[in-house]
Amino acid sequence: MAIGLNVEEPEEACSDENCPFHGSLAVRGQTLEGTVASTDMDKTVVVEREYDVRVPKYDRYMKRRSRIPAHAPPCMDLAEGDTVRIAETRPLSKTKAHVVVETLGGEE
Ligand SMILES: [Zn+2]
Repeated sequence: MAIGLNVEEPEEACSDENCPFHGSLAVRGQTLEGTVASTDMDKTVVVEREYDVRVPKYDRYMKRRSRIPAHAPPCMDLAEGDTVRIAETRPLSKTKAHVVVETLGGEE
């Protein structure tokens, strides 16, 4: 099933209703890349992103970090350190409004 994004579909199938590939979850908006920082929760991972913000006053870059809780469908076999792509979706819980749509590789 196509989800409207140019991503590689997972090889496994799952029966998660909140899976963009095998359930009925619609994704929208932009996709983000990040690193899996935590897999402690059930079906949820924390994706950490580090990005540079320019500070005009000093004409230098400052590192900023953001942590985004994202839904991890069972067909995605994720481990800490994995690089993943996440997409925005409807709010799935109090803190979750993103879903993992692609694994881009494990820890280097
Ligand atoms: Zn699935």
